[in-house]
Amino acid sequence: MLAQLKQSVTSLLSHGGLKQAQEKYQFNYTHIPPVAMVDTLPEGENFPLGWYRLLVKQLRVIFINTLVANRGNQGAKDVRDDIIRFLIEILRKEGLSTQISVLARVLQIMPQFLLQGLSKDFEELDELLLSLIKKSGMTAFKDLLARVIAHLQHPQAGATVANLEEYNKLFPVIELPRIAQDFQSDEVFAYMQVAGYNPLMLQRISTLDRRFPVSDKQFQAVMGKQDSLAQAAKEGRLYLVDYGILQGALNGTFPKEQKYLYAPMALFAVPQAQESSRLLRVVAIQCDQEPGPENPICTPHSPQYTWLFAKAVLTVADANFHEAVSHLARTHLFVGSFVVTTHRQLPDEHPVSLLLRPHFEGTLAINDAAQKSLIASGGGVNRLLSSTIDNSRVLAVKGLQTYGFNAAMLPKQLELRGVDDTESLPIYPYRDDALLVWNSIKSWVSDYLSLYYPSDAAVQNDTALQAWAQEAHSQEGGRVPDFGEANGGIQTLAYLIDALTLIIFTASAQHAAVNFPQKDIMSYAPAVPLAGYVPASALKAQISEQDYLALLPPLDQAQRQLNLLDLLGSIYYNRLGQYPKDHFPDRRVNTLLQKFQADLLQVEAIISQRNLERPAYEYLLPSKIPQSINI
Ligand code: MN
Repeated sequence: MLAQLKQSVTSLLSHGGLKQAQEKYQFNYTHIPPVAMVDTLPEGENFPLGWYRLLVKQLRVIFINTLVANRGNQGAKDVRDDIIRFLIEILRKEGLSTQISVLARVLQIMPQFLLQGLSKDFEELDELLLSLIKKSGMTAFKDLLARVIAHLQHPQAGATVANLEEYNKLFPVIELPRIAQDFQSDEVFAYMQVAGYNPLMLQRISTLDRRFPVSDKQFQAVMGKQDSLAQAAKEGRLYLVDYGILQGALNGTFPKEQKYLYAPMALFAVPQAQESSRLLRVVAIQCDQEPGPENPICTPHSPQYTWLFAKAVLTVADANFHEAVSHLARTHLFVGSFVVTTHRQLPDEHPVSLLLRPHFEGTLAINDAAQKSLIASGGGVNRLLSSTIDNSRVLAVKGLQTYGFNAAMLPKQLELRGVDDTESLPIYPYRDDALLVWNSIKSWVSDYLSLYYPSDAAVQNDTALQAWAQEAHSQEGGRVPDFGEANGGIQTLAYLIDALTLIIFTASAQHAAVNFPQKDIMSYAPAVPLAGYVPASALKAQISEQDYLALLPPLDQAQRQLNLLDLLGSIYYNRLGQYPKDHFPDRRVNTLLQKFQADLLQVEAIISQRNLERPAYEYLLPSKIPQSINI
């Protein structure tokens, strides 16, 4: 009797709680139409202070790097004095009176900083910057930085570089990414497809279609006389990447430069079983969808700059796909729907809500910041990516709508692309590491759910859970395509386990795999140009070194790319498997959680071991996977 009463009081309370939550968390479909996002960011969803600390640290590094790069780096002392004089001047000119006391102190610390470099921890400087953010808000802080940077001697807007060395000078304080050394090599280029920033494009093919008529001669020039297209296809060793989805995209401009997007294709192949190295090789690239003299097939045996040009064209397409589709749409926006639905439909103490919420920390905040500034007109995406901002948004929306929930399950994704066979594609670090992490998460989810759902019937009878599933899928709700089982809703425990595994995996591992290479690989513009600056039709003539350099981002754009992507790839806030202390009130969870954490340590050891035997791939080391999407 008492227990019954207690239960009905709890359910009444949680019902009231839900009503409140539904007022706080409302869907909006016009921020990035027609994607389901939160209307206004609810209080309590803001970034935690610890996150701001990490952000400030990195902003400081980027700020100093920009100051030194743009004032000329001729001997530490000269630069130091010059920068101090320069900052004082701006403070006067801009009349930044409200922030002046903080900035005055920053300036006092600056000489010390410039002398000692990045190795020192500048806690006082970071605290000052943080207090500036707290006092005047993030936007005011960013405005201030932007105004200071605006006074710098910029690399000339839109100017083509004379050599690659000029890009390296953009990194006087921030370490030059390793990719700067070897991005032009064909091995590194091919390795990007299996262990790069967007290792999600390879598709096994059984034959080439008429759009891409690579000849056996071209194939054999790369793979050897003993191999052939037919043989490779038969053995499942032939792979295509195709950016046809980018065809017809509208080319953007910023500020004045014409930018270009391309819809190229590339053929890759795995060497035969008896070969000593079975690393994927690049066979050919075609820079557009229709074959012909305007659009020649390029190979590693084409003239040097023609081949570099073709590889850069493919990378521009890949980078645009990566940011709009793989990163923004298929991690940030994909998870965002579930954050809102979970708050609206599950009481806080519901076991599924308890399990999911730590994986949602900071997600609405970063998505809100993205739609307000990053992907707004005039924002970073507008400036740096190839297309117009509207076109980039459309691409993201297409990317999301074509990512059906049930097909997004990792084993299914690999199967659909035909890359799940370790015999025909033996070296695929993303696949192999991701599966380890996926399986660990799945065991944890399965162990945890078995505490609350002894049977399929228990799943079917959980009305809150069913309402959650219904809203996640609904047009008036989260609009997640193809969510739920064939007969609607969630009928089985097995499906619930898969569904929660996918949500947690996407919020943690999948996001880490596409987010953090932004710093190590993508911040160096010549290796990964976010846009091209000449049309691909240039290829019909002989390509010179200057033609190749003209395709790459001008220095000012390269610096913007560095500043944005270094920041986005530097914030590691929270960590997979580390739930807040006493987060789970049910004591039975403790041992299950310990098992999950032990499992992740084991995955860490296996991946570290693998990295001794392959070119390193570190993005799915559990120690480098945050618990949630928050950057
Ligand atoms: Mn991100």
